[in-house]
Amino acid sequence: MDVVMSAAQVDVADRRIHGEGTPERAWRAWDGLQAVPSVAIDALVPRGARVVVVAPHPDDEVLGCGGALAMLARAGHPIVVVGVTDGEASHAGSTAWTPTLLRAERRAERIEGLARLGVAAPPQVLGLPDGGVAQAEAALCDRLRELLRPRDVVLATWRLDGHPDHEATGRAAVAAAAARGVRCWELPVWTWHWAAPGDARVPWHRMRRLALDADARVRKSHAIAAHASQLVATPAERRAPVLPVWALARVLRPFEMFIANEALP
Ligand SMILES: [Zn+2]
Repeated sequence: MDVVMSAAQVDVADRRIHGEGTPERAWRAWDGLQAVPSVAIDALVPRGARVVVVAPHPDDEVLGCGGALAMLARAGHPIVVVGVTDGEASHAGSTAWTPTLLRAERRAERIEGLARLGVAAPPQVLGLPDGGVAQAEAALCDRLRELLRPRDVVLATWRLDGHPDHEATGRAAVAAAAARGVRCWELPVWTWHWAAPGDARVPWHRMRRLALDADARVRKSHAIAAHASQLVATPAERRAPVLPVWALARVLRPFEMFIANEALP
């Protein structure tokens, strides 16, 4: 996800990430979210297919699709997580959480979080600069093209998710998937912050909802807790947690949403 220290750095067009965003109670009260068609796990990812998750920051794979990954791991799918950056810019200007410390901590948190989901394979970390994915987008796309095989299913942050790294990651993943002829589902993560119920900027008609079972919900919650650097305040610097309770409320839903690129039946 990664913190928003300077709104000017992260706004993308009209997708503005400010304040606490749209509260989860507003999403829950909206009929449209309940009306999004459901998708079964084996329709999201066909049986036996390898899953390639492209996550801009450590924790995006958990926040965006951690429940799905728990269910897919349990079903025996091979899962590869591509960690695009190490999230070293989550505490900009902090002397307690320096980029060097964050890089090491967040790499370890990502591994632990994935283990808690049941994903044993270590992530493929690319070490691109946090906040600078767009500048390396072509190289990222090339790496993904090399990695992808026929029948893979890609999960990546949505191209219009509102954070520059998320959007660049989405563009690179969608382009690589198209070049290799494989399916790519996009994950709204920051979308739930800046968008509003019924928001015309969100392609609700291409969205599908995966209900998480009890085991997946527990694993997802446990995996989020692995990202301790994002959950603790830094009182000496008067810093709130990067992931405060109002943000966690949106990611602890009993379902996850996936945006299809191709026309759905
Ligand atoms: Zn992120």
